[in-house]
Amino acid sequence: MPLIYFEVYCANCGEGLCKLTTVDERSGIKLVIKPCPECLKDAEIDGFDKGFFKGCEVTREQAEE
Ligand SMILES: [Zn+2]
Repeated sequence: MPLIYFEVYCANCGEGLCKLTTVDERSGIKLVIKPCPECLKDAEIDGFDKGFFKGCEVTREQAEE
């Protein structure tokens, strides 16, 4: 197997993901790349905000009834 050097970056924020990438050569080449922690954090915050505002809406609708 020839040596191949490559780098992995997040397409969204550009964070280097080499430390989060595992190469498995047992059956062909398989790359396992963990999600970008920065974008995951942002997505969690977005999800929290959406859920929070949704919850506020439901509470307000119930209060109006
Ligand atoms: Zn990212």
